[in-house]
Amino acid sequence: MAKSVVIVGAGQAGSEAAVALRQGGFDGAITIVGEESHPPYRRPPLSKDLLAGESRPEALYIRSADAYAKAAVELRLGTRVLAIEPNRQTLTLDRGGALSYDHLIVATGGRPRKLAMDGADGASNLHYLRTIEDALGLQEQLLPGRHVTILGGGYIGLEVAAVAIGNGLRVTVVEAAPRLLSRVTAAELSAFYESYHESKGVDIRTDRVPVRLGTSAGRITEVHLSDGAVLQTDLVIVGVGLQVNLELARSAGLKTANGIVVDAFGRTSIPNIHAAGDCTEFDSTFLGRSVRIESVQNATEQARSIASMICGIPKPYDPVPWFWSNQYKLRLQMVGMPQGQDTVCSRGSVGSDSFAFFYLRNGFLIGAETVNRPQEFMLAKQLVAERAQVDARALADETIPLKQLLDQSRTVVSQ
Ligand code: FAD
Repeated sequence: MAKSVVIVGAGQAGSEAAVALRQGGFDGAITIVGEESHPPYRRPPLSKDLLAGESRPEALYIRSADAYAKAAVELRLGTRVLAIEPNRQTLTLDRGGALSYDHLIVATGGRPRKLAMDGADGASNLHYLRTIEDALGLQEQLLPGRHVTILGGGYIGLEVAAVAIGNGLRVTVVEAAPRLLSRVTAAELSAFYESYHESKGVDIRTDRVPVRLGTSAGRITEVHLSDGAVLQTDLVIVGVGLQVNLELARSAGLKTANGIVVDAFGRTSIPNIHAAGDCTEFDSTFLGRSVRIESVQNATEQARSIASMICGIPKPYDPVPWFWSNQYKLRLQMVGMPQGQDTVCSRGSVGSDSFAFFYLRNGFLIGAETVNRPQEFMLAKQLVAERAQVDARALADETIPLKQLLDQSRTVVSQ
């Protein structure tokens, strides 16, 4: 077995890989190098509990510093990896010195895509959200009566909108696409979220983009939109996607596209270098195309697959993606991808606070989204993963338990 594994990136994937290596029996040295000063933490609460002041930063830590020490995992925090030299199997660190490895796992995640407009750079009231510091800095500014402009109607933008409304701010969400959440959900769910946010007082402007910023004393005071509207604003939050941290991988000669290209075992184009999490791109059997997924599920499962490979028990990673989002009292959970469906059916009353959407193609379930239905979500996950052939009318009929549909579909498959 290899003697040492070094992991670049002390995030969700990095932490999971280290622990899974130990659980898989790896007894060599494990080092995680991370540029942030915190031990690996969960990012989802940044736009939810932490931003709302319902959680403390330490509560986000995936494991305590003690747990890493007990598992003999060395954490080198506040340290940036400057370069990888694959031929010598070494890394150069910004604090000086080098680190050698038998196996390297690159889990460098990404950073928020910046707003490229005059006046944006360095504006003191412009915020992004990726780190604990970002969330705490933003939290201080979410004061009652202020007007916040959120650029981007994706999950992060909408979760921030919900917290800001809860804090008594006036909120405008500007989205370039014709509907909210357009990259990740079907039109039916977008419509529900749009009207729900509006019912809470959020001003939603879809199908338009900011074209100019008005500034004064280093602050953004106006956001001019493509339809001619001018928003007076106290605060601007940008949630327009992720820029993948690929520079390190590229300069080491790893094959990259939209992410670091990996196979089903997390192997990159260079031997003994693996990659996991937000920074990777791979072929998905489920989706029938190459994807880069930004989710906790993806980061953790891909990291575990790499650990099992290094431990000599290869388990390919071929996920059915799932995700969640909390906005107001709504817990949204989704599995699969609502793309290419020919039938959409709903279960429960869509205007209410508890319902589900199911997406079918040629009679097979390809995706589901549930709102405040955690038990049905667990069953929907299995139905989608098994590509169950189900009747849309039965899915829509609340008197038929989903468990029954799952059992029926399994019976048909086994016959
Ligand atoms: P990260 O967790 O980003 O970790 C990468 C780490 O690598 C970072 O700490 C970075 O500083 C470090 N790094 C980069 N380059 C170097 C270098 N050269 N040297 C040393 N260190 C380096 N997902 C969900 O499933 N559900 C949600 O509800 C959800 N909500 C989210 C809300 C917010 C506000 C955000 C930002 C993300 C959310 N996500 C959610 C996405 C999820 O958090 C990410 O998919 C996950 O964190 C990815 O893990 P990762 O390990 O790939 O990357």
